[in-house]
Amino acid sequence: MTDTVAERKMQFMYALRSKGITDTRVLTAMEKVDRGLFVKGLFADRAYEDTPLPIACGQTISQPSVVGLMTQALNVTSRDKVLEVGTGSGYQSAILSHLARRVYTVERHRRLVSGAQKVFEDLDLTNVTAFLSDGSFGWPEQAPFDRIIVTAAAEDAPGPLLAQLKVGGIMVLPVGQSDTVQSMIRVVRSESGFDYEELRPVRFVPLVEGLARDN
Ligand code: SAH
Repeated sequence: MTDTVAERKMQFMYALRSKGITDTRVLTAMEKVDRGLFVKGLFADRAYEDTPLPIACGQTISQPSVVGLMTQALNVTSRDKVLEVGTGSGYQSAILSHLARRVYTVERHRRLVSGAQKVFEDLDLTNVTAFLSDGSFGWPEQAPFDRIIVTAAAEDAPGPLLAQLKVGGIMVLPVGQSDTVQSMIRVVRSESGFDYEELRPVRFVPLVEGLARDN
């Protein structure tokens, strides 16, 4: 017998807890945001599995437990202005919108930006703004940010993003030399510089320069 949607959602929350997401604010935000609304077509019935899934433009919606761990590491407060690089489906932004004061998210594929904007409207998430641009340059017009999260992997933390982080601010991002070996790191900006901490191995799609050619 197949599980009902309610049962699958319960298992989904259980999987998050068992993978180390303990922050109740993060768990509550993730319970509010239905991942089923961000996964379309063929893979829709796998939305409540703890696995990354394909979305449009050859990209992926991240694994829910990784979304949770990154969000937890970001330690977002309700006063924060957050920048996300790599909107993708909009799932991570929707979770952040429940935790932060304001969320700005940038994506290099136009089709993903409009798809995410549509879901934000349907969910009445009025504190999230999605924008088509190369996120490696951040969002200078809205900088500086209290928190920055990057959901695509670069070799290193991009300089413009470090520059757009407030003193006392936190950035969480995957970095790595290849598509297969990457680490999630946390960067905290202090008065005197940046402190780096390696959190765990991860696997993300690459951060690519420039707007996508399908725009
Ligand atoms: N946070 C997303 C995960 C998306 S996967 C979610 O919750 O669904 C990473 C995304 O980063 C992809 O959509 C990819 O197109 C985008 N991306 C890669 N390089 C980028 C860049 N330089 N600027 C903006 N977006 C970028």
